[in-house]
Amino acid sequence: MVIFHFSMKIMLRDFLNLFFPRYCLACRGPVAHGAHLLCASCAVDLPRTGYHQEPENPVARKFYGLLPLTHAFGYLHFAKGGKVQSLLHQLKYENRPEVGEVLGRWYASELKEDDFGEAFDLIVPIPLHPSKLRKRGYNQSDAIARGLSEGLNIPWSAEVLKRTRHTNTQTRMSRAERYDNMASVFAIAQPEKVIGQRILLVDDVVTTGATLQACGEAIMASQPQTLSIAALAVAQ
Ligand SMILES: [Zn+2]
Repeated sequence: MVIFHFSMKIMLRDFLNLFFPRYCLACRGPVAHGAHLLCASCAVDLPRTGYHQEPENPVARKFYGLLPLTHAFGYLHFAKGGKVQSLLHQLKYENRPEVGEVLGRWYASELKEDDFGEAFDLIVPIPLHPSKLRKRGYNQSDAIARGLSEGLNIPWSAEVLKRTRHTNTQTRMSRAERYDNMASVFAIAQPEKVIGQRILLVDDVVTTGATLQACGEAIMASQPQTLSIAALAVAQ
């Protein structure tokens, strides 16, 4: 009976490990039982930007003269080969939307602590093109929006902002070329949800800002009360 019980326990553990591997997604080190995704030291040591406490931060400056943003934040510093890159890779390419949800919730609790709990009415993630969505199975920005929404206790919607066409890869383009590439890619499908509202636009990582700018312009055309941006990570 004891042996049977023991082997059942092992089986259950192996079964759970199949779905919830007990290693840290940032450093591959062991994770304590009951912890989620990250080991304790990675969770503490995540390279937080603190940009929400700094109105003139690098994300805000990126959009000066381009978009009338009320707040512009990015949660973590993205560095090549670093822990944040590893987390984003899991989120985007390893079928781990929960990375976005968990980090979104953590970000929300930090934003709340610094009085941003009542600053927004609706969270809008950057949409993926439907063909990419089918391939990946989920939109990583939806996962982040869901985590932020749970943590801030405000709604999010993937139906408000739509991508109307696919874009060419942008890695070798200049900022102006990227902007042309993105123009009229996005459209507001539900303007009644935007008008007069304080919108928080959410992305996974800010690089040039061209995608956020194109989405922001589409949102501004539907007359929100305010527009703000939050990204999970900021590339230098
Ligand atoms: Zn770790």
